[in-house]
Amino acid sequence: MILFFGTRVRRRVLGSGTFHCPYCFQPRTYEQAETRSWIHVFWIPLIPLGGAQEEVQCTVCGGRWAPAVLQAEPLA
Ligand SMILES: [Zn+2]
Repeated sequence: MILFFGTRVRRRVLGSGTFHCPYCFQPRTYEQAETRSWIHVFWIPLIPLGGAQEEVQCTVCGGRWAPAVLQAEPLA
């Protein structure tokens, strides 16, 4: 029997809204998501590797930022 296993990253969307994107320098919509690596066997995730990481992604430029970017004030 051939055993297929490895690691995959799963992404779970937590929410969305608007923020000031540091790259676009414009108010943009974002998607907040949680990513976590899993050990999978036959493409079924079995064991999570480490903690989940949250990220905020700008839906326009695709830039990924730490969730702290949501608290950042736009530069005048
Ligand atoms: Zn952007």
